[in-house]
Amino acid sequence: MNRVYNFSAGPAVLPLEVLKEAQEEMLDYRGCGMSVMEMSHRGKIYDGIIKEAEADLRDIMQIPDNYKVLFLQGGASQQFAAVPMNLTKNGKAAYIITGQWAKKAYQEAKLYTDAVAVASSADRTFCYIPDCSDLDIPEDADYVYICENNTIYGTKYWNLPNTKGHELVSDVSSCFLSEPVDVTKYGVIYGGVQKNIGPAGVVISIIREDLIRDDVLPYTPTMLKWKTQADNDSLYNTPPAYGIYICGKVFKWIKSQGGLAAMKERNVKKARLLYDYLDNNTLFKGTVDKKDRSIMNVPFVIGDKDLEAKFVKEAEANGLVSLKGHRTVGGMRASIYNAMPYEGVEALVAFMKKFEAENTK
Ligand SMILES: *Cc1c(COP(=O)(O)O)cnc(C)c1O
Repeated sequence: MNRVYNFSAGPAVLPLEVLKEAQEEMLDYRGCGMSVMEMSHRGKIYDGIIKEAEADLRDIMQIPDNYKVLFLQGGASQQFAAVPMNLTKNGKAAYIITGQWAKKAYQEAKLYTDAVAVASSADRTFCYIPDCSDLDIPEDADYVYICENNTIYGTKYWNLPNTKGHELVSDVSSCFLSEPVDVTKYGVIYGGVQKNIGPAGVVISIIREDLIRDDVLPYTPTMLKWKTQADNDSLYNTPPAYGIYICGKVFKWIKSQGGLAAMKERNVKKARLLYDYLDNNTLFKGTVDKKDRSIMNVPFVIGDKDLEAKFVKEAEANGLVSLKGHRTVGGMRASIYNAMPYEGVEALVAFMKKFEAENTK
């Protein structure tokens, strides 16, 4: 076995312990004679798997009883439509545009409601989070929408916006379970799991019960109505069963590591190592305003396309893979999610130092 250090933004690195356990259970799940992907989602064994996954997630995030946890399909992108379909009452919503994912959500929402952009960081290619302490939010907005960690641009809200009493909806795809969270500050928290939790194909939505309604927008597909899923404990139809099983294992792994406080400590330590180097070298440069830096996605540049291509290629030859930046930003991006060990970031920084020495005069 030859595992690389995988800095992919998503699908991304998973804990080795989890993969090994899944491997051991692949052919015969705990003596039942079949794999988890071959069994009925309505059977007793799978019922135990999904219930335990939910219970562990509730425990890790300390999710209050008046919030539902839904395991859904369609990726984070499908929730871009589900959010306005389920939450629109007055026909207005406020969006904060901090990157491509927020923008896509905003454009999707416009199909269903009068979505207005109340702040944006597009003027400097989304390299910062706008001041959200006193935004001009329409009185009748049904909700305020943010993308909490901007996977492509490497920014993170370290303070939630002042929503002035409106419900906060947050896409946490790329910072899910990376740090402790106060669920009560949100109406809806959702994210695709393929960045920090599990295999692509599962999206988790955590929704306060009073926001799960029958009177959604007309023509909302049955499958996109949160109430359908909530009433059926995420088993209205066949769920992404194997993916949820892996998510459950990752929840247990997080617990065994000490929970979200421990995750944050590890993540901060890893990010600090990389940012400290970025701030104190002569070749590479971080692209994000310091106060808004993500501890999950770290974009950086050299400012010379040929040298950047050379860096990505040589890094890969050294077992440090998927460091190419997003096509809209260029340069490089290191995604250092929960499952990236400290040693992986150490190896990256050591390689960057070597590359710096070899490529500066
Ligand atoms: C990756 C990503 C998405 C899109 O996720 P899909 O599951 O591919 O739809 C949305 N939002 C954020 C913040 C992401 O990082």
